[in-house]
Amino acid sequence: MAGAAKALIFLGPPGAGKGTQAKRIAKELGVPHLSTGDMLREAVANGTALGKQAKPIMDRGDLVPDSIVLGMVEERLQRPDCGNGFIFDGFPRTLPQAEELDRILVRRGFGNPLVIEFQVAEDTLIKRVSGRWSCPVGGETYNVYERAPKVPGICDVDGGKLVQRNDDRPEIVKERFAAYARQTMPLSQYYRKRGVLKAIDGGLGVDDVTRTLNGILNVAGA
Ligand SMILES: [Zn+2]
Repeated sequence: MAGAAKALIFLGPPGAGKGTQAKRIAKELGVPHLSTGDMLREAVANGTALGKQAKPIMDRGDLVPDSIVLGMVEERLQRPDCGNGFIFDGFPRTLPQAEELDRILVRRGFGNPLVIEFQVAEDTLIKRVSGRWSCPVGGETYNVYERAPKVPGICDVDGGKLVQRNDDRPEIVKERFAAYARQTMPLSQYYRKRGVLKAIDGGLGVDDVTRTLNGILNVAGA
């Protein structure tokens, strides 16, 4: 990726497929796929200074403040595996986080990020997420719109009775989408104004989205 942005940020609502794509692209580029949830768990497990601050807050079930999260991000970016770049998936979520992340990226010599916004129509998203059912016996997953089981409600493999996560019910998905839009709209406007945002159609099939991303990243690296 000579000359290209090293810091990739994937923005998109729950169900937009950014986690799947982040995994694929991270593997292709040989760079780490970073999530702040993993960073927090690791810092706590390793007993770092920030991990010690975060632990009681997490134990109480409270939200870890930005100062601690961003401190962990800055520490993480100094590890050698980030030297060729990295992908943030699900971070930043708010404008203050984005602004502080920008300062960290400059301070650590990564320059401007390249932000990919996964745009997906609300009804597509609701179908994708609310169609998800899983088998409590063997963990198989189905989607009634895309990969339906042969017998409705029954696992093809072991006959388990399929269940739906409470979070995946249509009315909850609508709420999550609205919350995402409220919180993240200012973020995409901020990045768009800075000229570092590329929007892609996240409603396409998984392989088509990967192809689109490869096109953008190759062009950016040329
Ligand atoms: Zn099963």
